[in-house]
Amino acid sequence: MSANPHKNRSGAILTVDLDAIRANYRLLRERAAPALCSAVMKSDAYGLGAAMVGGALYAEGCRHFFVAHLDEGIALRPHLAPDAAIYVLHGPPPATEAEFTEHALTPVLNSVPQAAGWRAHAGALGRSLDAIVQVDSGMSRMGMEPAEVDAWLAEPGFLDGIRLLYVMSHLACADVPDNPMNALQLARFQAIRARLPACPASLANSSAIFLGADYHFDLVRPGAALYGIAPNSASDNPMRPVVRLQGKVLQTRTIERGDHVGYSLRYTASETRQVATVSVGYADGWLRSMSNIGVAIVDGVRVPQIGAISMDSITLDVSAIPSARVQPGSLVDLICAEHPVDAVAGLANTIGYEVLTNLGSRYYREYTGAAR
Ligand SMILES: *Cc1c(COP(=O)(O)O)cnc(C)c1O
Repeated sequence: MSANPHKNRSGAILTVDLDAIRANYRLLRERAAPALCSAVMKSDAYGLGAAMVGGALYAEGCRHFFVAHLDEGIALRPHLAPDAAIYVLHGPPPATEAEFTEHALTPVLNSVPQAAGWRAHAGALGRSLDAIVQVDSGMSRMGMEPAEVDAWLAEPGFLDGIRLLYVMSHLACADVPDNPMNALQLARFQAIRARLPACPASLANSSAIFLGADYHFDLVRPGAALYGIAPNSASDNPMRPVVRLQGKVLQTRTIERGDHVGYSLRYTASETRQVATVSVGYADGWLRSMSNIGVAIVDGVRVPQIGAISMDSITLDVSAIPSARVQPGSLVDLICAEHPVDAVAGLANTIGYEVLTNLGSRYYREYTGAAR
């Protein structure tokens, strides 16, 4: 993602606190020990910038990184030292095995054909190659199903040339600690694992780290919690907030009883109101489903977002704020410690993951804290 390099010219400022990400990593690593703690960096580190986040986590001691796609791995590789492993969750697209070895990327093998392709590539190179194998323990999304595992094991030399680093799976309901699916998937994972050659295992995402040691195995794979998202809804969020999004006031105006605001006139004033227009819209990932229900923090006060969200702007009712504090160029908080990502997501009827991964490329991006 090409970030806007112009702080004064941009409509909004996105600040990413690398120290908070590092503190979150330390907390997760301590919770999961003695298991190793990786970092999931897919979708440009959940929208926060994989190059900067990866460098900071490497400095914090992280040596295992996950991305979703091959091109994400190729983009991340130059930002990490050679002793950092980069695993590609989706595995090799057909005939791309050579790109994995060229860029020192390790595939997650999700199917018998992917395993066969990796084996053939190892054979062609005449050396053994690292891989993770993913099995499906009940989510029906990625990985070999139990019957496919059996078919794979029945192939002669099924692991020839493959150094199996981990067998992994993924949980569907880990954010709800008492959902019975968690224990069911754990049992299925253990059963599949018992049929494979002995090797380390990995099951837990952010939420599952908080399900207890049974779920930790040898490597945990947090993403969301690193970036400040609450790992489950059952308890207070132990993670530090990472993101601050500040929009800029473009204009202010006074409207009278009966005046309308925005597309389709979805807000009508019942009395005199002060309106501030702020330069963030749905094209910046400020989800349109928050029309008439969003909030912003202006000068420390929560104010309602009124009317429909436009492509490039929103409108706030700032009647509660002294006008001297809301002028063109004033900054207002849209995401901050008092109104974190999960609260924004709640208003938008979605999850924090979607709010973060939608953060726009028009924002000026600033990183605070120790990058190295
Ligand atoms: C995205 C992902 C993770 C990280 O999940 P979080 O809920 O963000 O911690 C871990 N493992 C797999 C396979 C994933 O796709």
